Amino acid sequence: MTDAPLILWFRRDLRLDDHPMLAAAAATGRPLIPVFVLDDPVLALGAAARWRLGLALEAFADRLEEAGSRLILRRGPALPVLLELAAQTGAAGVRWTRAYDPESRGRDTAVKAGLRESGLEAVSHPGHLLAEPWELATGAGGPYRVFTPFWRALSARNAPPPLPPPATLPPPAEWPDGERLADWRLGAGMRRGAAVAAPWQAAGEPAARRRLDRFLTEGIDGYGTGRDALDRPGTSGLSQNLTFGEIGVRRVWHAAGMAGQRGAKGAAAFRRELGWRDFAWHLLYHFPDLSTGNWRPEWDGFAWKPDNPAAERWRRGMTGEPLVDAAMREMYVTGTMHNRARMIAASYLTKHLLTDWRVGLAWFADCLTDWDPASNALGWQWVAGSGPDAAPYFRIFSPAAQAGRFDPQGAYRRRWIAELSPDPPATARAFFDAVPESWGLDPAQPYPAPVVGLAEGRERALAAYARAKGLSAEAK
Ligand code: FAD
Repeated sequence: MTDAPLILWFRRDLRLDDHPMLAAAAATGRPLIPVFVLDDPVLALGAAARWRLGLALEAFADRLEEAGSRLILRRGPALPVLLELAAQTGAAGVRWTRAYDPESRGRDTAVKAGLRESGLEAVSHPGHLLAEPWELATGAGGPYRVFTPFWRALSARNAPPPLPPPATLPPPAEWPDGERLADWRLGAGMRRGAAVAAPWQAAGEPAARRRLDRFLTEGIDGYGTGRDALDRPGTSGLSQNLTFGEIGVRRVWHAAGMAGQRGAKGAAAFRRELGWRDFAWHLLYHFPDLSTGNWRPEWDGFAWKPDNPAAERWRRGMTGEPLVDAAMREMYVTGTMHNRARMIAASYLTKHLLTDWRVGLAWFADCLTDWDPASNALGWQWVAGSGPDAAPYFRIFSPAAQAGRFDPQGAYRRRWIAELSPDPPATARAFFDAVPESWGLDPAQPYPAPVVGLAEGRERALAAYARAKGLSAEAK
């Protein structure tokens, strides 16, 4: 037995509640030293996600202070940083919550080996998912590739119950020094965008919990149909909290289950969406190329265009297709985008504009405050048609038809496109305050003509698909 401190290496698990690693570490009774390391994977985050992470860290540091602890900030490659911290504090081990993307796994495996070589305990814990990616397997023993059987297995298993926050977080006799969050300048990439996007963020554990509670009282009942409506709030808005671990997914899952037992009609549909999040991570864990290569190799021969001027108009919310531009501007202003809008914007880029899905994936990664490597990759490949369990490519979303179904009065488009109203709302004007000045955009300019006609874009996409199918049939 030892009473040497434990280092708690926090990453995307910035909460006290429903935290298996923290609960296990607190149960040892040893002094705990929470640390966050600014290493290359953090520096590689897109501008919006890096800025949002800064808000999450600020809120988490406050939360730890309230609980009598502290968040130590250190910079550099994780292994030497952790070894140095252990040497300075006499810590006997390091614990962390697992991450499942290829970059994090590579790093964590090396860190675990390096710590153990130096005689330190190194223990990783679950906590980011409902089920660890290796806990669910098909009858043949392999990973799932199709959502429905995955979902059946996940929901039959249920998730472990959430754990309460630890009663105490014993501090070390002496706190090690750390860097100042402000010196990390995590918002540097946001320039004008930060001030515009700030009111849309609900950073930190208490804010996440309020969001969940509000959704459970006001939103979950109508979620089944409301989740697709673009013109009114119908979803939880929890993705930005889940991605940084400001709320535990098991807490959300069980809260939804209890709401279902009380008769909330949308509870089952909501849990199913949490299931999509786990499915995305299951896939990324077992197929690490999910975010870089076509899942279906036959798509390698498809005539995707690389980045191009029409894609640049898409990025700037200036395609002249109002529903698509509304979606892109919503993302620029708020840092997130409605799920249906994501599907429509992604379909337009990959089909009407025939642009490689990886161009869109990269832009979303730069602009989303709820960026999640697994859900983003699965979402793009699903829409593009190249992915697991994907929508067939020939099923091309028509923005006009989607608008008729999900934004029938045009409220969503008016909310985000200033040029469509004589007296545009603040939300629509905010886009012009957020974009780089170098784009030269002005709400007084006329709204642009469409970059391509909807019928023409659709025909072009179908022709490209037919050609690709012919080619891949010849190749067989
Ligand atoms: P709710 O409808 O309230 O759902 C609750 C939670 O379930 C979400 O917070 C999310 O964690 C999960 N969820 C819901 N829908 C999905 C889905 N289709 N796939 C995976 N998980 C889901 N989600 C991200 O969190 N980060 C991303 O970077 C991301 N990129 C996407 C890119 C594309 C092209 C597409 C089509 C979807 C993407 N999604 C992404 C999934 C989905 O759009 C968002 O999770 C959802 O819009 C978040 O809003 P919400 O929290 O109000 O969701």
